[in-house]
Amino acid sequence: MKPVRQTIKYEAERDPNFAREIAAIPGCENLPSCFQCGTCSAACLVSTFMDYTPRRVIALTRSGFKDEALRCQTIWLCTSCYACTVECPKEIQITNIMYALKQRAIREKVYPKGFSIPVLAQEFYKLVLKRGRSTESWLVIRLFWRTNILKILGMARLGLNLLRTGRMSFRADSIRQTRELQRLLEAAEAEKGMAK
Ligand code: SF4
Ligand code: SF4
Repeated sequence: MKPVRQTIKYEAERDPNFAREIAAIPGCENLPSCFQCGTCSAACLVSTFMDYTPRRVIALTRSGFKDEALRCQTIWLCTSCYACTVECPKEIQITNIMYALKQRAIREKVYPKGFSIPVLAQEFYKLVLKRGRSTESWLVIRLFWRTNILKILGMARLGLNLLRTGRMSFRADSIRQTRELQRLLEAAEAEKGMAK
């Protein structure tokens, strides 16, 4: 695990509404009941690669230290395996809280620089919003275009092999009723905005 710099936290750094806003998101309601037992961190197989353990992310979120919670690498390294959620004695949906923090970090554009995962999430959403399906070839191109275009050269051989064997295609898949889907997603976004 990367060493976390121990710093003194001050009341003035807190966002007093942050915990309430996260706990208001469906599936995150139990956030305030965390009693910091650390079971989630012990259950997490990737916690050794995280800058803050899941227990600390929950503590930061619950205490309103929004900046640390949204800017940490932990939320992007979470693999959504749900091991922590299954083990938590207070039935806190830690994985859902990680998702809520990721969504908020994307919305506020505060994710760590150079991290491709938030860009991938954004591009995936844009493709699905437009066509109702994601096309892997276009998703990969858009991801590298926004992160490191030179990296695509290293993947060229693999890409050509996948195209040649029919495992990948540039044909953009689409559902028939894209407008219906867009209305549904827009309504979900509006609902989220009202819940904030
Ligand atoms: S396992 Fe649950 S109660 Fe224990 S620290 Fe993690 S979130 Fe809190
Ligand atoms: S869901 Fe995320 S935080 Fe929880 S155990 Fe899995 S990787 Fe760790």
